[in-house]
Order: sequence, then structure tokens, then C-alpha cells
Amino acid sequence: NDAGAAAVAAAENVADRIEAEREHLTDLDSAIGDADHGGNMARGWQAAAEAVAGLDNPTVEAVVKTAGKTLLSEVGGASGPLYGGSLVFASAELSDGLTAESAVAFAETYLEKVQDRGDAKVGDKTMVDALVPAVHTFKKSVETDDLPPVDALAKAVAAAENGVAFTVPIRAAKGRASYLGWRSVGHQDPGATSTLYIIEELLATAA
Ligand code: ADP
Ligand code: MG
Ligand code: MG
Repeated sequence: NDAGAAAVAAAENVADRIEAEREHLTDLDSAIGDADHGGNMARGWQAAAEAVAGLDNPTVEAVVKTAGKTLLSEVGGASGPLYGGSLVFASAELSDGLTAESAVAFAETYLEKVQDRGDAKVGDKTMVDALVPAVHTFKKSVETDDLPPVDALAKAVAAAENGVAFTVPIRAAKGRASYLGWRSVGHQDPGATSTLYIIEELLATAA
């Protein structure tokens, strides 16, 4: 179906974008981590894009679930289970297809799962700092402001950008960067940055 084909295209766009940003993500992770986030994400999303392109019946749910499973098996570290496991779990919200309502439910469930698994809150300098404002803005834009989904997604991108900028001056409290304590201050979080790129590519695919 159309939404399924769009989801396959989205996975390809994410894989291409992450590949283009691989070195940047590596640089960010070398400053406050172990320099593998670019490689982790590029390898994982390349495999995910290939896996979803091979699906016989690419419903949105199947595409998201397959992408998540692939990330889970290809990417270790903190980000593999956080991205992959949460995508697999939240994909169930798309079982009746893609609507503004199911997209909001998917986004909220994805965020909940990331926070269940990682136990990070806003201000801990993780992907959660990009994700919380993005999901809350998306939900509000759809449900309260009654914006069309693509416009709501554009607002979510802007919110995620602010979230990424917010990670720079704060001290990491979760993940490898937390081992640096105050020395993590002044550096942008790699996982928040890759989360922004993914949301940007969802918008680019939908727009
Ligand atoms: P690792 O740190 O195991 O090498 P990656 O480099 O792939 O894994 O991913 C690092 C990113 O994972 C961080 O920049 C951060 O955004 C995210 N992260 C780490 N720990 C957590 C956590 N507990 N909750 C949410 N995100 C986290
Ligand atoms: Mg790392
Ligand atoms: Mg690592």
C-alpha cells in the first residue's frame, strides 16, 4: 500500500542521511563517548533499509517492526536496543495503518519505551532531549492545533533541533558520556543528533 511504500522510502532516506552524517556522528561520539555512534547507526540503518526493501507485504507496521528488529540485531551498545527495541514495540500502534492518530500513538509509545529501557529524563544529555520535545510538539500540533500531519512533523523537527542544542551546555547523566561528568559539558549529544536526522528524514519523505 501507499503508506507502506512511503515507509520503505523513509527507511532508505534515513539510511542515506545517516551514511552522509556518519563522520559527524563519529566525531560527536569521540568527544564524549567511544566514537562508534556513526558506524553503529550507518551499519544498522543500511541493513534496515535492505531488510524492509525485501519485504513481500510492506505494511507500515511491518516496515517499522523489521527496521527495529534489524537495528536490534546489527547495533550493539546503548543505541541498538533503544532505537531497535522501541521501534519494534511501538510498531504495534501502526497495525491499523498510518493516520494522524496512529502516528501520535506510535510516537508516544516509542518515547515511553525509550524511557522505560534507558531510564533517562530530559536534561540527562541523551536522545531523550530531542525526542521529548519532538513527540510532545507533534502530539499538540495534531490534537490541539489541528495541524495536518506534515505540518505537525515540521513543528516536531524544529522542537528536536532545540532539544539537540539544549544537550550542548548540560552535563551527561546517562550513558557513556556520564563517565566524563562535567567534562561532558560543551559537547552535543550524538544520539540526540541522530534522532533529529531521523525525524528530519521522516519529514522529507512525507512532505
Ligand atoms: P554506546 O554509548 O554504547 O557506544 P552509541 O554510541 O551508539 O552507544 O550511542 C550513544 C547514544 O545513546 C548517546 O549519545 C545517547 O543519546 C544515547 N544513550 C545512551 N544511554 C542512554 C539512555 N540510558 N537513555 C537514552 N539514551 C541513551
Ligand atoms: Mg558510542
Ligand atoms: Mg559503543
